[in-house]
Amino acid sequence: MSNLRVRFAPSPTGFLHIGGARTALFNWLLARHWGGTFILRIEDTDQLRSVPAYTAAILDALRWLGLDWDEGPEVGGPCGPYYQTQRIESYRVAAERLLSKGLAYHCFCQTRDRAHLAAAPIGNDDTGEPETEMPERAACRCNLLDRNEVRQHQAKNSYAIRFRAPREGETRLTDLIHGSVIFRNQEIGDFIILRADGIATYNFAATLDDAAMQVSHVLRGDDHLSNTPKQIMLYQALELPVPFFGHLPMILGPDKKRLSKRHGAVSIQQFREDGYLPEALINYLARLGWSHGDQEVFSREELVILFDLGGVGKSPCVFDYAKLEWLNAEWMRRLGASEMSRRASILWEQRSWLDCQQAALPRLAAITTMLLERSRTLVQLADKARYFFDIPLERDTAAETQLLVPAIRPILIELADRLEALTDWSVPEIERIFRELAACHGRKAGDVIQPARVALTGGKVSPGMFEVVCLLGSQLAARRLRQAGERIAQPAKGR
Ligand code: GLU
Repeated sequence: MSNLRVRFAPSPTGFLHIGGARTALFNWLLARHWGGTFILRIEDTDQLRSVPAYTAAILDALRWLGLDWDEGPEVGGPCGPYYQTQRIESYRVAAERLLSKGLAYHCFCQTRDRAHLAAAPIGNDDTGEPETEMPERAACRCNLLDRNEVRQHQAKNSYAIRFRAPREGETRLTDLIHGSVIFRNQEIGDFIILRADGIATYNFAATLDDAAMQVSHVLRGDDHLSNTPKQIMLYQALELPVPFFGHLPMILGPDKKRLSKRHGAVSIQQFREDGYLPEALINYLARLGWSHGDQEVFSREELVILFDLGGVGKSPCVFDYAKLEWLNAEWMRRLGASEMSRRASILWEQRSWLDCQQAALPRLAAITTMLLERSRTLVQLADKARYFFDIPLERDTAAETQLLVPAIRPILIELADRLEALTDWSVPEIERIFRELAACHGRKAGDVIQPARVALTGGKVSPGMFEVVCLLGSQLAARRLRQAGERIAQPAKGR
């Protein structure tokens, strides 16, 4: 198994989505588990739909997930990926070989008048898109043209090359996940391998590349299952060894329909922007179709050790956003405050919330510690920390109207004075100030704490007030208390 060679072969026609990322992960895990090779191949031959920016986005998402690939076309150069557009000539040569062996024929259907057809050939053979259903046998009669007729047409028309698929019998597959699958050849039909523009179709290019790259195991989504008999036929025609195939069960939304944008985020990029951690996504993706007893939380290292195809189920899996969120929160806690504050700092930096004073690492770690239990995503954590930075508060005006009433104004101002005068800046001392002040004014501590919370954080919800004040520091705390006092004094001026 150390010769195991797997690949992930995305088409750059969109961002890396959950299904693609799961395919990439399972291939990567298989390669890392067995000490094999993980190849990345960009299937960019569809020039109309392939967009270079999507290639860049896919590579970026894979790197962010930590799914590194091993090999590329440049010997001794950087590690790949392979691009099919750089391999076009090899597809043409292979098509010529099949032509010369009589295993393929010129097809003029797309380019000449169709009068010679018994019926229009039934397409689906050149898009590379997974088929939804098996086509009827293609009824192209170009296979009946003799050499002279071909030559005549060739002079006038461009042509595609169509594979002469076996008409009788069956193509059998022992799928690594689904077991035995049998396709009746008469349902496959002759299919295009090289389009009239000289570009190989998905089935042809993928087969040739998998063979050239000595891919031993093709692991992909089961939406590609209907392509597999065509690819097996091509391997056989080209006298190339057929790899093992495994088709991963489909990923559905909570309504049991195929997962799509309708259900929520589907691209890795979106999850990243929403504050999900690569550790959590890797963990969640691994559990989408694979299990190891009842265990839910897996580190990447554990997955590499434990992953095997035997643990992959056949039935479709339902994407559970709530479970992903739970795992994300779990991973935030596991990674701990100092690592999470490092990651949150990138967001704080982007929001321009950090200045030199506030960026002291222990302070950021302390803020993070305080908010970690209350946040389920990195973005939530970063956002919740807003009031710790010296930037305008996000103010809950209803809470202000309720709690910042004229009677509380002198108490807030006095609190500001007392905090500023405090020499031992510590949580117990801050607590003492609050309690003494409340007692002085004949109030309960809560009657001071809640308005102070609104004044200091903008809202009614925060971690413990004394801890928050301690982290805010005396200057910022006093300034906010006074500003709130001023707003009470001038209610007309924009509360
Ligand atoms: N380019 C195909 C896709 O993105 C790859 C299919 C395969 O893995 O063979 O769906």
